Amino acid sequence: IELRNEDLKDLQELGAGNGGSVKKVEHTPTGMIMAKKIVLIDAKPAVRKQIIRELLIMHDCKSKYIISFWGAFLADPNICICMEFMDKGSLDGIYKKIGAIDIEIVGQVALAVLEGLTYLYDKHRIIHRDIKPSNVLCNSQGQIKICDFGVSGELINSIADTFVGTSTYMSPERIQGAQYTVKSDVWSLGISLIELALGRFPFSESSSDDSDLSDFEGTLSPARPGSLALGLPPLGSRNSVTAKSKKDKRKSKGVSLQGGGMTMSILELLQHIVNEAAPRLTPEGKFSREAEDFVDSCLLKDPEQRRTPQDLLKHPWIEQAKISDVDIQAWASTF
Ligand code: ATP
Ligand code: MG
Repeated sequence: IELRNEDLKDLQELGAGNGGSVKKVEHTPTGMIMAKKIVLIDAKPAVRKQIIRELLIMHDCKSKYIISFWGAFLADPNICICMEFMDKGSLDGIYKKIGAIDIEIVGQVALAVLEGLTYLYDKHRIIHRDIKPSNVLCNSQGQIKICDFGVSGELINSIADTFVGTSTYMSPERIQGAQYTVKSDVWSLGISLIELALGRFPFSESSSDDSDLSDFEGTLSPARPGSLALGLPPLGSRNSVTAKSKKDKRKSKGVSLQGGGMTMSILELLQHIVNEAAPRLTPEGKFSREAEDFVDSCLLKDPEQRRTPQDLLKHPWIEQAKISDVDIQAWASTF
């Protein structure tokens, strides 16, 4: 059936991100509970219609590792995307609530994300482009699914035009302006897995929110190939940070680099991702060799050497995850 905004009753705010906000809604004619994502798009009517057409490809994306799509429509000036509601929310919310996530569960997350990415790419030639804990969702049946993948080129462009943001889950080659490939998603997966297993964003020293750069909104738009390389302001005019009061720190989005005792701006962080060794599952020896090796292979800085999601499904840690008897449903019932 055709979804109409009038038929959707708001139940609860689920959160807001860079591109929009998400609400839990009830489709009153059927009683069905859904998640409605509202994206404010400043684009011409023709472009908006094109975006809706492109989003409809999601109707064909059917996998147990992908959020089901219920429909998309224009509700001026917004675009609404209705999808399966996941009652345990996203993994960032979960670890911020319960702390570091058990590595067995993290293994199941890795397996689900790789399956989802492989499905999207093999069946639809879609690259996700935004793998991070807030785009991996969990429900009380113990299912883990990915959402917010880049189906609509027009939507990606429009968001890049209206909103200038950057993600610190971005691979070194993307930061340097190269095209997205499935391997960029693998990098983002590696960063996300460390974040879940450690209970904090890998590039920040503490787990406190104000030193978390994972949601940084900057003035550059690396979402567009090459723009970062072209748009880098000269050193010194950046919003670099010297830690003063906590308030100052927050305002300028300062972050302390793990172990270094040095405070970084977003651009310094991006430079760090490009120039320094990739983060790892630490402390060494805390996690299995297979888990360490998996994360290391996701975080190979050279995209030529980095494996594809399909190939990584054969990694020993993932093979273990496939036969693991860990009960995600029982785990999800604890929060
Ligand atoms: P960004 O905009 O940078 O991608 P984000 O993923 O946090 O960040 P949104 O995609 O707008 O932002 O989502 C906001 C929040 O809504 C998410 O963090 C998640 O907790 C929640 N959410 C999104 N989709 C669903 C869903 N299908 N079911 C339940 N909760 C959801
Ligand atoms: Mg999201």
